[in-house]
Amino acid sequence: MPFKADLHCHSYYSDGKHSPDFLYQRAIERGITHLAITDHDSLAAHAEVASGEELTIIPGVELSTDWNGLEIHIVGLGIDTQNPALLKLLEAQQERRRNRIASFDDRLAALNIHGLKDYMATLPCHSYTRTHVADFLVSAGHSKNHQKAFKKYLARKGKIYVPAQWSPLAIAVQTLRDAGGIAVIAHPGRYPLSRSKLQQLLTDFKTAGGEAMEVSYGNIDPNTRSKLTEMAEAFSLYTSQGSDFHSQEAHWTDLGRFPELGTQAKKNAIWLHPGWHFSAS
Ligand code: AMP
Ligand code: MN
Ligand code: MN
Ligand code: MN
Repeated sequence: MPFKADLHCHSYYSDGKHSPDFLYQRAIERGITHLAITDHDSLAAHAEVASGEELTIIPGVELSTDWNGLEIHIVGLGIDTQNPALLKLLEAQQERRRNRIASFDDRLAALNIHGLKDYMATLPCHSYTRTHVADFLVSAGHSKNHQKAFKKYLARKGKIYVPAQWSPLAIAVQTLRDAGGIAVIAHPGRYPLSRSKLQQLLTDFKTAGGEAMEVSYGNIDPNTRSKLTEMAEAFSLYTSQGSDFHSQEAHWTDLGRFPELGTQAKKNAIWLHPGWHFSAS
């Protein structure tokens, strides 16, 4: 099997729709040899799946972090899933998520919408997200679809919006490093940042001990991909790639579905990092 890595995807322990076993089987079907399951602020999937003959599972996580008031996602790859400081940080993040859901529930009650907490209790997930709240609003008939649920209720100007309070980026990056992982900036093209602000982010990320950035992911456009590849080179960051797969419904972000790293990006691919312990074949 030729080497093929997908280093970013989600199970139903965060806002994905499928089980870790499903991801494992789907990855094999898609010709993937190395899969990182990177749930938001949860390692639960890694208690259920481990590397087998056909597929190497890389322990990963995606942390929501705060950088100057902006939410930046940091993927950690190759982490020790038993590291006490990391587990403590994840528990704090999950607690923040539960508190945020309680605030959403209070605000919904004021609008005479009930049942969010009961709905949440039926889910297998450990990390609650606004996507789950949107699912609830759609299933209970309050919104036609996710986009409408976000616009009316959950986006920054939505009726029940409350800001999240995430761990500072520098602390998250340091914790991932201390847990033996490589910190990767997730989907850098998706933040509302000018070129110079993005450069500032990369500078701060490197100072904190960050070592890599995603330059290829589901739905990325060619301009963004070449801009990010150039920036990775300029900042001496390793390059990473991943679908950010959540659900089979969104088939355009299926596992393995993203452009190959270009020649330039391949020279600094994350699997060439000296701390990468997952064989490239
Ligand atoms: P949370 O981590 O709880 O703030 O939830 C964030 C999730 O909500 C992200 O992973 C997105 O998938 C989703 N999301 C954020 N904004 C929108 C939007 N405008 N429309 C649909 N989904 C969104
Ligand atoms: Mn997500
Ligand atoms: Mn993300
Ligand atoms: Mn993600």
